[in-house]
Amino acid sequence: MPRGSLIIISGPSGAGKGTLVDRLVARVPRVWVSVSATTRAPRPGEVKGEDYYFLTAEEFEAHVRAGDFLEWAEVHGNRYGTLAHTVEDRLVQGLDVVLEIDPQGAMQVKELLPEAVLVFIIAPSMEELERRIRKRGAETDEQVRTRLQTAVRELQLVETYDHVVENDDVARATDELVGIIESLRTGEGRC
Ligand code: 5GP
Repeated sequence: MPRGSLIIISGPSGAGKGTLVDRLVARVPRVWVSVSATTRAPRPGEVKGEDYYFLTAEEFEAHVRAGDFLEWAEVHGNRYGTLAHTVEDRLVQGLDVVLEIDPQGAMQVKELLPEAVLVFIIAPSMEELERRIRKRGAETDEQVRTRLQTAVRELQLVETYDHVVENDDVARATDELVGIIESLRTGEGRC
């Protein structure tokens, strides 16, 4: 069984990463999406172990000390991390693994596993990004501002990514993402 590919998906909050990843998984078999650990509180409707492993600061710190994380980073005042063993197990099983993580984490993974393929999802404009974040209604005005500031900072890293997908239209952007994964399987897209 050939080892699966590791695909990292980053992009500002509100760019629509989650929707695109859900659609990707529905369309392409043998793709596994990693579940991160976080110290952030669950949003309404989020399910423990499905959306995230919700940990206390102490529990998260214990994993950091034990060296359990492939990568971890602080984003918007909370810590987020990917548990190394779950990713490695799936890659060995030949599954393609998707990590939906921020650019700080993406750079850490790329250092350790240079074969990882980095995809950055962008919204058509900052105005559209703000509209999408506000529509979600989960953040206060101050949190929206923080997320937009983070977006501006993260956009400066876009050139370090292998692919940039503009989420102007969900169906079109999904097709593009599916095309990237499929080209990895045929070997064309390997970097
Ligand atoms: P949210 O709180 O909106 O779910 O996620 C906030 C940010 O944290 C997003 O940019 C998301 O990609 C990032 N994130 C989620 N999980 C991880 C992770 O395991 N590691 C890192 N580095 N970032 C993550």
